[in-house]
Amino acid sequence: MIKKEILNFDVVILGSGPAGFSAAIYSARGNLKTAVIDINMLGGQPSNYLEIENYPAFSLISGYELMEKFEQHADKFGVEKFPMQEIINLDLTSQIKEIETQDKIFKSKAVIIATGAQSKKLNIKGEEEFKSRGVSYCAVCDSAFYKDKTVAVVGGGNSALEEAIYLTKFAKKVYIIHRRDNFRADKIICSRACKNDKIEFIMNSQPLEIKGSNCVEKLVIKDLKTNKIKDLEIQGVFPYIGYSPNTEKFNGQLEQTKDGFIETNINMQTSLKGVYAAGDVRNTPLRQVITAASDGAIAANSAVKYIETLTPVIV
Ligand code: NAP
Repeated sequence: MIKKEILNFDVVILGSGPAGFSAAIYSARGNLKTAVIDINMLGGQPSNYLEIENYPAFSLISGYELMEKFEQHADKFGVEKFPMQEIINLDLTSQIKEIETQDKIFKSKAVIIATGAQSKKLNIKGEEEFKSRGVSYCAVCDSAFYKDKTVAVVGGGNSALEEAIYLTKFAKKVYIIHRRDNFRADKIICSRACKNDKIEFIMNSQPLEIKGSNCVEKLVIKDLKTNKIKDLEIQGVFPYIGYSPNTEKFNGQLEQTKDGFIETNINMQTSLKGVYAAGDVRNTPLRQVITAASDGAIAANSAVKYIETLTPVIV
């Protein structure tokens, strides 16, 4: 059996998106020994965003570049970073929290959960079968495969419309299929999509099935007003229908909404002492880079104050 390396910190932050790195900056500046760990590469979900134009002080910046700046800022304060760490076990209830990964055991006085959220699935026939063979949840990663092809984006939020616009750089035609007759996306993004003549909107419609032989060939959709069912000839499907929280490892251990988002108070305190949640993973009315960063700052500030109240324990 491999002997695991034991690492002691004041604060361990799970997740390295804007909430995680913001928490790390505030925690390290609060003179706490701080670690950020992530199951993936660092940077979280915004690393895949093409353009961000509503993060104050940057009128236009790529998500990747913005997250690089978050990381560099955390580096400046000596935050220790551990990418590609899958959590195998965790104990969040004791005063000294323990996070066990493949080869390490992280011990800390406080934990900040900033694990974000992941793409929701349509849960229709063919979606799983054709994953990576025409079904993709990342236009930025896969759009080059769809040069001169016809694709469908499902959803009516900012992600769906922005990614559809991006896909028009490669695809010859992009359908946007939305279940209602108006969009949730910001007006400025809707207006850009409407002006793009490669985009065709199919409103009040719901995908029912993805069909094909080796790769995606058809999307079966239902008009929710007329109940008519038709096949769209397409080679790619991009579901952008929102996100569900990455809480698999914490489910049942702390208070969550029925959809799994972690409940916190205004100090980002969860139902467990010394455990905070920040960003998309928590029950919050707005999920943006700016709100995640704000949550991270508040969570770290709460952790600093909490740790000050602890009777000294050797970790
Ligand atoms: P979202 O805003 O939650 O929109 C999800 C869309 O998918 C909605 O239009 C919803 O329809 C539709 N939908 C949900 N479940 C569906 C299903 N089972 N079948 C068909 N359609 C379904 O998600 P998002 O666009 O991914 O955005 C998530 C958050 O990130 C938002 O706060 C957004 O503003 C933010 N974001 C910001 C930027 C940016 O600032 N550049 C970019 C991307 C995302 P209904 O409208 O009918 O509910």
